[in-house]
Amino acid sequence: MAQREPNAVAHMLGLLGDEWTLLVLQQALMGATRYGDFQTRLPISHSVLSSRLRSLAENELLKRRVYQTNPPRSEYLTTARSRSLWPMLVSIWSWECLWVPEHPDPLPLMHHAVCDETFAPVVACGSCSEPVSEKDVVAQWGPSGSWPRSIPAAVTRRRSATSQAGLFPQTMTVLGNRWAFAILVAAFVGVSRFTDFQTQLNAPPGSIADRLGIFVANGVLVGTDNRYRLTEKGRALFPVLISALQWAQRWFPAPEGPAVELTHTACGGRFSAVMTCDKCTRPLRGADISAA
Ligand SMILES: [Zn+2]
Ligand SMILES: [Zn+2]
Repeated sequence: MAQREPNAVAHMLGLLGDEWTLLVLQQALMGATRYGDFQTRLPISHSVLSSRLRSLAENELLKRRVYQTNPPRSEYLTTARSRSLWPMLVSIWSWECLWVPEHPDPLPLMHHAVCDETFAPVVACGSCSEPVSEKDVVAQWGPSGSWPRSIPAAVTRRRSATSQAGLFPQTMTVLGNRWAFAILVAAFVGVSRFTDFQTQLNAPPGSIADRLGIFVANGVLVGTDNRYRLTEKGRALFPVLISALQWAQRWFPAPEGPAVELTHTACGGRFSAVMTCDKCTRPLRGADISAA
């Protein structure tokens, strides 16, 4: 039975691999609470907004609270589960600042209250505190890990046009679809052939081909000799993926153990990501970070 149950990776891809969900969450974390707040801030239809608010509440990423009964009105508040996504959002922010120069309005820099400097986040190892890159971390399937358990069940989401909205347009293109997100995870663990993406992810070939094309167009993957490899820009998404994975393993643990086990090769210890400030090197906390 446990062989079939979705693991933390499946929850991560299913919940976060959706552009509108990410946009709604981003706005909620920046202070939107009422239906009208989301509508004003996002070019989103009634049906899409209602469905995303419902699924976010079902998955305890937002808490619905009735603030008025006549007529009935609700607001949507962040939860510990959604607030703990800050390392992923900070990583996305940093990646867009560095790698997506075509922003129509430049992104604000991030400010660290502890050292009073504008900063960029640096991923460090929780065991030895040294900074790490994707080259220093080895990922292996854990007791609840395997591709079949890591792919979310088909979702019956209302299809809608890609919006290009929000502060992080390219991240939404890169992550905002469950196949795209899954391809990216597979690329990080070394999958490179078209047929291997298709068989490992058990995905429709058309979806794989579409997404690989978008990744190549965005400079995240480069395709040569029938293989697709991460570019420097693609590898720079490591902090985004690692913080999404860590979030999922925290909130969706499997009784038999983690889906993915990570080792820091330099110290040999179990790898858990700690976000630190590049200016003062102290560990970051969500509450200390704001737009500069
Ligand atoms: Zn280490
Ligand atoms: Zn600092």
